[in-house]
Amino acid sequence: MELVTAHVRTRLRKALALDAVRDGDAWHVGDHLVHPTGDPGAQCSCPDHRYRREPCKHVLAVRLALRDPATLDALRVLLAPGPASRAP
Ligand SMILES: [Zn+2]
Repeated sequence: MELVTAHVRTRLRKALALDAVRDGDAWHVGDHLVHPTGDPGAQCSCPDHRYRREPCKHVLAVRLALRDPATLDALRVLLAPGPASRAP
């Protein structure tokens, strides 16, 4: 799965500023309700997620709160100084 697209990178930056609050199986992130598990994947009530079918900043905020390994890897790539972030 290609997690770190440019869109996801932008959303991941935004997700860092969000608080995810657990409520049973769901999470409240801002005004939106996120279900982090399910078929075909995480669900969020925001338009970004419903129309683009990609992880939105709310879903990413919950994945960060859950210490999801793939999301943490993406964050490491995003924050790490190195060739990837210094590409011309
Ligand atoms: Zn969302």
